[in-house]
Amino acid sequence: MAALNGAVENGQPDRKVPPLPRPLRGLEVKYTKIFINNEWHESTSGKKFPTYNPSTLEKICDIEEGDKPDVDNAVEAAKAAFQRGSPWRQMDALSRGRLLHKLADLLERDRVILATLETMDTGKPFLQAYFIDLEGCIKTLRYYAGWADKIQGRTIPVDDNFVCFTRHEPMGVCGAITPWNFPLLMLVWKMAPALCCGNTLVIKPAEQAPLTSLYIGSLVKEVGFPPGVVNIVPGYGPTAGAAISTHHSIDKIAFTGSTKVGKLIKEAASKSNLKRVTLELGGKNPCIVCADADLDLAVECAHQGVFFNQGQCCTAASRVFVEEQIYPEFVKRSVEYAKKRLVGDPFDARTEQGPQIDQNQFDKILELIESGKKEGAKLECGGLAIEDRGLFIKPTVFSEVTDNMRIAKEEIFGPVQPIMKFKSIEEVIRRANSTEYGLTAAVFTKNLDRALTLASALQSGTVWINCYNALYAQAPFGGFKMSGNGRELGEYALAEYTEVKTVTIKLSQKSP
Ligand code: ADP
Repeated sequence: MAALNGAVENGQPDRKVPPLPRPLRGLEVKYTKIFINNEWHESTSGKKFPTYNPSTLEKICDIEEGDKPDVDNAVEAAKAAFQRGSPWRQMDALSRGRLLHKLADLLERDRVILATLETMDTGKPFLQAYFIDLEGCIKTLRYYAGWADKIQGRTIPVDDNFVCFTRHEPMGVCGAITPWNFPLLMLVWKMAPALCCGNTLVIKPAEQAPLTSLYIGSLVKEVGFPPGVVNIVPGYGPTAGAAISTHHSIDKIAFTGSTKVGKLIKEAASKSNLKRVTLELGGKNPCIVCADADLDLAVECAHQGVFFNQGQCCTAASRVFVEEQIYPEFVKRSVEYAKKRLVGDPFDARTEQGPQIDQNQFDKILELIESGKKEGAKLECGGLAIEDRGLFIKPTVFSEVTDNMRIAKEEIFGPVQPIMKFKSIEEVIRRANSTEYGLTAAVFTKNLDRALTLASALQSGTVWINCYNALYAQAPFGGFKMSGNGRELGEYALAEYTEVKTVTIKLSQKSP
């Protein structure tokens, strides 16, 4: 309490704790149309679709429903903006970086508005939207703003009378198809590297939660990106999304979503123009807790790892493997944590867990919970919806889970923690890797040798040791196996948004 009262402790004046941000109750939604060439348009078909608040199940507003003709218009605008000689192509790289910094400034200015919109549209707790999603967006924009003028080719020694160098050029029109679990963050993960490399964009946000992506359109215009550089077409996957993945004038697609749709997108890309594709898909991520781990840390990280964002994370710790000596104690403490988790109104500052995104996901999670009960897992707590409250599900823990159960094999995408037991390191490596996914893994141990053995043996794009969901704009993120192709974030993402051109020059005379 000393810090809150501004008292002096140990001779040091306490820093004032800033007050927590407050959501904007009754915020009016301003941007519901299709954004092309820095202007707002109605859909060609005249159709609209509703977006709902999953906490109250009330309709928030109607959104213009984009389809193929609208995607065609957006692609034309993005192609024109990418033409040689256009303001965007003529802009020097440093100025591109400054535009990204300005966009980050506006996200900082409108952080409460954006976090409020994200909470209304997804049901995620407002403080998480504000401190985690928006923080990640701002840092990612600033990180790539810094890269814009540092994207360099190489000179390559070849024959003596030749000069050879490479240029790392933008690819052209990039499509971005984004999910509903982190709508704005997943958009920024694509938009920031794409723009920093000098590409133009056609974005389709998830139909369940398009509001923050559309708001970004207004900021893009205010910042002063030339018309056509960023275009946003809200709509459904099989219509607007498919129009992007099959489009002959789109040069690259970045997608985050289900493995099922990722396969469709890759297929559509190969059937149309072989556009480049990066995919960030599902996960059934092992979280391995060794007997020598710091148990308090491991229990808390495994809990946050699976329950964060209502369990709706591709990184969810949805297979917890615990060494047998500490298994009973780990389960006991995990259950205590889950029982204490506060589920409720996401605008309440105390809330840790809001509703699931929609009825489909809600039904799917409850069906998987039922399968766990039927297949013989021990339900320790939860296991049900919260009555009379729409799409809320009680934090659920299952113990005595075995690898053949559906809850141990399928992505649940909900607040459900399956806990398994293991005896040896070789055994847990084999079991952790026996999945078609390979997104993330976590290891809890104090033994360096074990930590590094597991880090090298686990087949996943990320391994966290004694931490969870430690994501940084600087560090690449993506999956092995069916968790995806390519990497987002970090320097690695630049390669996903550039083409390498080799220029070879023959000199007229051999050097003496
Ligand atoms: P989820 O199953 O979690 O809703 P999806 O993979 O279905 O995730 O959706 C992620 C994104 O992919 C959304 O923007 C959605 O509209 C889009 N999408 C869905 N189906 C298709 C499709 N056939 N082609 C292109 N995009 C699609």
